[in-house]
Amino acid sequence: MKMKFGTKAIHAGQEPDPSTGAIMTPIYQTSTYVQSSPGKHKGYEYARTQNPTRTALEANLAALENGKFARCFSSGMAATDTIMKLLKPGDEVVCTNDLYGGTYRLFTSVYAHYGIRFHFINMLDLQQVEKVVNDKTRMVWIETPTNPMLQIIDIKAVADIAKRHKAQTVVDNTFASPYLQNPLDLHADIVVHSLTKYIAGHSDTVMGAVITNDQETHERLAYHQNAVGAVPGPMDCFLVLRGIKTLHIRMQRHCENGAAIAKYLKEHPKVAKVHWPGFPDHQNHQVAAKQMKDFGGMVSFTLKEDKQEKAFKFLEAIKVFSLAESLGGVESLAGHPATMTHASIPAEERKKSGITDSLIRLSVGIEDIEDLLADLENALK
Ligand SMILES: *Cc1c(COP(=O)(O)O)cnc(C)c1O
Repeated sequence: MKMKFGTKAIHAGQEPDPSTGAIMTPIYQTSTYVQSSPGKHKGYEYARTQNPTRTALEANLAALENGKFARCFSSGMAATDTIMKLLKPGDEVVCTNDLYGGTYRLFTSVYAHYGIRFHFINMLDLQQVEKVVNDKTRMVWIETPTNPMLQIIDIKAVADIAKRHKAQTVVDNTFASPYLQNPLDLHADIVVHSLTKYIAGHSDTVMGAVITNDQETHERLAYHQNAVGAVPGPMDCFLVLRGIKTLHIRMQRHCENGAAIAKYLKEHPKVAKVHWPGFPDHQNHQVAAKQMKDFGGMVSFTLKEDKQEKAFKFLEAIKVFSLAESLGGVESLAGHPATMTHASIPAEERKKSGITDSLIRLSVGIEDIEDLLADLENALK
């Protein structure tokens, strides 16, 4: 039966427990499984390889991304790391220049030393993508909307260029969540998520996942997952499964509140620029309207007085918003990319991508909008 998103979020991969009928998939807190004769077992041998709570979550995530296969990892970075193990020395990767700081660090200070070459380009410019992607390119890495500038990359257009060169396209879909955007339907080969953010949604776990339709890729990822062992514990899988059941409802409110705050900030006399893909004059707004269901709960902005101390003053004054790293939880968060999430990116690179001293990033939560607006009003004062 073909189900819609909300029904899948609640039911996909989650049969009542076969031994008790428990409606919630139990936390199978076990390291091993008993065999009746050597090699004769119920599909589970050792918990680094498989765990039933994890299996339920993987089936659910595959369904939400319209994919056949999913693998869960102990963090979003562990998921990304395992994808990089599909490559070998001499291979080239073309990536968005406005990458998540941790991904940039993993690429440039870990994998670059293993002989993999990275090209960071502006993927808003498809001609530049055409120019840089060549037959040595094995992978094209897209993040959209990007962090923290919320730039929108045309997934289908970039993936089609990659395909002509037999390169795989990977989309980090963390900022959109599967509710807003399904990259596999837009010709991407692999989707990676930090489940830590919108998917788990309650700021209580760190986890990651990789989803694909390609069996060979899936098997290679599974091999590395088991060989390396960056697997999540069953309790964390349970928490993510519990969070997922309200993903569609939470995303609706994140989008509603995000839109209201973006519009409020745009009118504010102390605010210079607001980045939010829902504005008709946001670059590639049309692409966002086409490839996303709505515009999300992430908003960033700069102050007219573009000074770090002014941004810090604002961040010390907020009360309903909390000053913290991360995003995608039910509670509203604010951050200062230049000194927090993007501190590992050299100042020159950072400024080139628009991450100036007063840039503030908001992860708009699902509280009452009146309270959020009053908090911003007060802190801007
Ligand atoms: C947080 C994040 C990651 C890394 O995920 P962790 O779960 O923190 O390891 C990767 N990409 C994006 C876009 C993120 O926001």
